[in-house]
Amino acid sequence: MRIENLCVRRLIGDAAGATTHGHKIALKGGYIYQTFQGGYTLTPLGWRVVRNIENIIRQEMDAIDGQEILMPVVSGADVWRESGRYDTVDVLAKFKGRSGTDYVLNPTHEEVVVDFVKSVLETYRQMPFMVYQIQTKFRDELRARAGLIRTREFIMKDAYSFHETYEDLEQYYNRCLDAYTRIFKRCGLKNVVDVLSSTGDMGGSVAHEFQLINDMGEDTIYLCDCGYRTNKELVDEDTELCPKCGAKLNKVRGIEIGNIFQLGTKYSDSMNLTYAAPDGEAKHPIMGCYGIGVGRTMAAIMEESADDKGPVWNMATAPFAVHVIGLADKEGKTLPMAEKIYNDLKSAGVEVILDNRDARAGEKFADADLIAAPIRLIVSAKNLANNAIEVKYRVNDVDTTDMETSFGLGTYMSETVDAILKLLGK
Ligand SMILES: [Zn+2]
Repeated sequence: MRIENLCVRRLIGDAAGATTHGHKIALKGGYIYQTFQGGYTLTPLGWRVVRNIENIIRQEMDAIDGQEILMPVVSGADVWRESGRYDTVDVLAKFKGRSGTDYVLNPTHEEVVVDFVKSVLETYRQMPFMVYQIQTKFRDELRARAGLIRTREFIMKDAYSFHETYEDLEQYYNRCLDAYTRIFKRCGLKNVVDVLSSTGDMGGSVAHEFQLINDMGEDTIYLCDCGYRTNKELVDEDTELCPKCGAKLNKVRGIEIGNIFQLGTKYSDSMNLTYAAPDGEAKHPIMGCYGIGVGRTMAAIMEESADDKGPVWNMATAPFAVHVIGLADKEGKTLPMAEKIYNDLKSAGVEVILDNRDARAGEKFADADLIAAPIRLIVSAKNLANNAIEVKYRVNDVDTTDMETSFGLGTYMSETVDAILKLLGK
């Protein structure tokens, strides 16, 4: 990708309307565009990051035997009436088709997945299994805030597991909890904790939220030195004492980026989903459900890591791995060299962006900070005189102190490309 063709508008100066630092950086860098209050277009930059996060999630869900599916955004009201939630979920957006049919925009898919699994599940031998999707949801929230933190339309990974026994659900639930911990770590998030939460209108017994500890968060969470962690729903807010050890709890702000629930039979019961048990008796499977806000995870990374210049991604989430900057010289050598490095990296399958624009160096560096490719290669007259190109890093969770600060160009360009591929672990 050449930077002048990138369908992104980076803002100069303050981002009006931004309510948090991460939101400001997302707008300044041109990662998101507000299409309506609470609904955002992800630009090519934002979508690259979100797709990278999705791929991490996919790998970890597949690793715990998840099977990816895709359910529709819209469904008939009938399944929601069947579960009894049609009139109780306040964020449920309802509309009528021309034929008079009642539809909903699904804010979550328990009803739709149970209806689907009815068509598949016959006997106990098929369980346990988990299906998941990465898909758009709509919640008719009264207020939207902070960019991708609280939106009305958003991309979510939602997963649903089906079990014969509570022991089996518990075991799978813990595998999923571990997978979530790996996902957020791989995304470069540092201060994510799992906290006990109430199950709210999801039903069920045990639930956890994954919260990024951050002052910009709209949730209050309580942490205890004994290891007990919970959200405010499970704390007596007058005393703020740990229900486990009695000590005073530490109160911090959090951004919720994931949640997991042991649902039990709430939905299989109300919607009459059954399977044949070993003795032939018809039973309701025991369910778990597991969500991650995908766009919100990108927003959380920005809240946690962005500095005044822009976001800081890690190798796994960055929109581009390498940013090549050519600084024009009088002899006309630097730009063709930058072009050649760009082409060679592209041919080697590296996600690379080239800035050979006729622009000031300061402007190019500021844009590079906002795109934040972990590896930046600078081709200038001074470097070329030393038969080298300069390397700079902008990366989260990698210690760059001992890493190369320049690559020799040598006789063959391929040496430089090999050195960069090695840095990228390719
Ligand atoms: Zn405690």
